[in-house]
Amino acid sequence: MKESSLNNFEQNQPMSQYVDFYGRVFIINSDVLIPRPETEMIIDTILNLVGKPYLPGVKPSKAKLPQNLTIADIGTGSGCIAITLKLELPNATIIASDISEKALKVAEKNADNLDASIELLQSDLLEKITAKPDLVVANLPYVDESWEWIDKKALSKEPALALYANNGGLELINKLIDQVTERSIKHLVLEADPCQHEQIINFAKKKGLTLRETRGFALYLSE
Ligand code: GLN
Repeated sequence: MKESSLNNFEQNQPMSQYVDFYGRVFIINSDVLIPRPETEMIIDTILNLVGKPYLPGVKPSKAKLPQNLTIADIGTGSGCIAITLKLELPNATIIASDISEKALKVAEKNADNLDASIELLQSDLLEKITAKPDLVVANLPYVDESWEWIDKKALSKEPALALYANNGGLELINKLIDQVTERSIKHLVLEADPCQHEQIINFAKKKGLTLRETRGFALYLSE
C-alpha cells in the first residue's frame, strides 16, 4: 500500500477504516457499503464460470466464459468486486460504475492501493456504459426499509443510497435486468437477499434470462 497517498486520502475524507474482502485489504469510509462476507460468493460464482479454481480441493465447472472476458460491475461502491475480479482474472477487462462520485473516489483509491487496472465511471446503472460487456455483476441496494429483521442502527454508518431500494428492495435490480436484456447482455450475476430470489428469478425469466446457479446470496442468470 502506498503510504503517502493513503495518508493524504484519510486527511481529506470522512473517517476511514480497513476491511478484508477476499483476502485483500480495502479502505472504506461512510460514502460506501462495507464489504460483506456474503458478497465473496459473487467472486466464487464468476471464477467458477470462467473455469478458475476458487476453493482448494474443489474442481471448477467447465468454463462457460473465457478468462479474458469484459465485466461491468454496476454500483461498485468501494470497488471490492471489480478490483478483486481484476486481480483474480488479470486478462479480464473490468469496467466499474457507480451513481455516487464520492463512492468512485473510494474505489479509485482502492484500485490504486491494490494496483488493479480497472475503468471507473459515473453512471446510473448501465446508462453511460457504451461498451457491451460479456457479463454484468452487481451488488445493488436491495434492502427494503420495512423489513422487520433489519437493524437500522447497525446500518446507519453506511449510505442509505447504497442499501435501500423501493418495491420490496427490487426497484434497482429489476431496472438493471431490464437494461441488461434490452442490450442483449448474456450473463448476469447479482447479489440479493435469499427472500427475494424467487421474485427476481421469475422477473428475469419473463425477460429471457434463466437461473443457472444460486450460491448463497448470489444468483447467476444467463440467456
Ligand atoms: N446484505 C446487506 C445487508 O443486508 C445489504 C447489501 C446491499 O444492499 N447490497 O445489510
